[in-house]
Amino acid sequence: MSDADDTTTSATAADEVEARLVADVEAARANVQRLQEEYEQLLTDPAVIQEDKDSHRILFERAKEALRNAERALERHRSGTYGRCSRCGAEIPPERLEALPEADTCVNCS
Ligand SMILES: [Zn+2]
Repeated sequence: MSDADDTTTSATAADEVEARLVADVEAARANVQRLQEEYEQLLTDPAVIQEDKDSHRILFERAKEALRNAERALERHRSGTYGRCSRCGAEIPPERLEALPEADTCVNCS
């Protein structure tokens, strides 16, 4: 990859980002669905204490938030604004997107 040329690899890179973001959305959606089913079961089980219901609900809420973030990242990618800081418009470094594919701000603005 050391001789990679941006002008010839950009289409492939965009496809890779798309594939990664789609996989993220699907994984997040499956996670939300699983947690929702588990939560509904917890609610109907009289043996489950409130504390466990609450902690599970927090997991469920976090999973929904992660799904929204993943969907937004995919929308940004498809509209061509992915990889740009939503606050200052600067390009988000690839290393940051690699570590945090849903990032929509640069390091300075996060
Ligand atoms: Zn910024």
